[in-house]
Amino acid sequence: MRHIAVVGSGPAGYYTAEAAQKKFGDDVRVDIIDRLPVPYGLIRFGVAPDHQSIKGVYKRYESVNLSDNVRFVGNVLVGKDVSVDELTRLYDAVVLATGAPNDRPLDIPGSDLPGVIGSAAFVGWYNGHPDFADLDPLLAGPGAVVVGNGNVALDVSRILAKTRAEFEGADIVSHALDALDHSGIKRVTLLGRRGPHQIAMTPKELGELGHLIRAKPAVDPADLPPLADDALLEPGMRKSVTHLRDFAANGVDPKDITIEFDFFASPVAIEGDGKVERVIVERTRLDADLRSVGTGETYVIPCGLVISCIGYQTPPIHGVPYEHGRGRFANSEGRVLPGLYCVGWARRGPTGTIGTNRPDGFSVVDLIAADIGDGAEREGRPGLDALLAGRGVDIVTFRDWKKIEQAEIARAREGAPREKFVAVEDMIAARG
Ligand code: NAP
Repeated sequence: MRHIAVVGSGPAGYYTAEAAQKKFGDDVRVDIIDRLPVPYGLIRFGVAPDHQSIKGVYKRYESVNLSDNVRFVGNVLVGKDVSVDELTRLYDAVVLATGAPNDRPLDIPGSDLPGVIGSAAFVGWYNGHPDFADLDPLLAGPGAVVVGNGNVALDVSRILAKTRAEFEGADIVSHALDALDHSGIKRVTLLGRRGPHQIAMTPKELGELGHLIRAKPAVDPADLPPLADDALLEPGMRKSVTHLRDFAANGVDPKDITIEFDFFASPVAIEGDGKVERVIVERTRLDADLRSVGTGETYVIPCGLVISCIGYQTPPIHGVPYEHGRGRFANSEGRVLPGLYCVGWARRGPTGTIGTNRPDGFSVVDLIAADIGDGAEREGRPGLDALLAGRGVDIVTFRDWKKIEQAEIARAREGAPREKFVAVEDMIAARG
């Protein structure tokens, strides 16, 4: 029997469990440990609430969990309730699938002012993450600045711009829906430090901006490279740039909210009296390696909210080697230390789609198979249970989660699939 502990119940964790099931059949026990009482990590707390079809992948993870060889162990914080060292003594292999839930800091003067937040916080707020339920973002408007030109910047801009009706069928939590309903934001400026050919936005997501009820995307035609240059782009990117060209051709449209693409624009300071009032932006240009360099020309964007969407990092864990520059665990193809592995964003950094984590899971299980052979008769599950019981840790099981899920479905507002509990105590209380 092989005993594997997976830390983190997001996509990388579940694909690893699925791969272990496929590889070892009945000769494996996988414990998926999560610090929260609810599973699925990024699917629940990262994927936008109005993208329910993407969130639907949780059904696949659920089927992985419905066999005896995979178990969800919720409400257990690795590093506090149990250490990584203890886990590596109990299990043949420990896989860190902790994702990259922390914001990369926007390291400019004024980024600590009230009203400046990171996407992890804002996305966590509208997705009901317990850490961010009390965020209370400053939505008085009229200006908001979103820093970054990736898909998260798109999610954030779209959520800021949607009407209540456009959240029909979404599992956005009610506290966010109500606050957004009273938002005074009329202009969202998306700052890209490079140009239209360097965006990190995918076409489907970018195209959505063209179909919002009260908001209209705007692109300055002068920022677009010559049309002939689009032929050099790979097909997905070409489609994205075609959307930008369509937005540039839109002309004036009397919609309530403008989502303005400001390319070649890098924030250099944030100012305000006690809270954000303006962003100082430097005009940039591309160098020969397509990196952005400042031109020295600056201008001011008045705003009451700044959301930086410039990427994420993995939280370090005491005793686990960490690559600070890249914000992930130091690893060689997924191996961290003997018996310790990492997978997904904790291994690669925060790039790629949810599906990218599937081959990651399979490749880490191949490494584990090569390293541990038939396993070393570790204690595994009973050992973890005894240790946690001795410390008074209240484990939340998958069966408990199903009760919590039922309670969330039962309390959903009309048209929504669920109303998430946003406090850990309420999640735990809901298991009955
Ligand atoms: P991302 O794709 O890496 O984009 C980060 C953006 O921030 C880039 O435009 C980057 O510009 C910019 N940036 C970085 N540092 C900056 C700085 N100091 N100042 C100004 N701009 C800065 O990251 P993400 O948007 O967080 O997305 C993470 C991953 O999740 C991506 O793979 C994304 O596709 C995926 N995702 C997918 C979906 C979806 O499919 N619906 C939704 C959300 C996220 P440079 O290019 O110049 O570095």
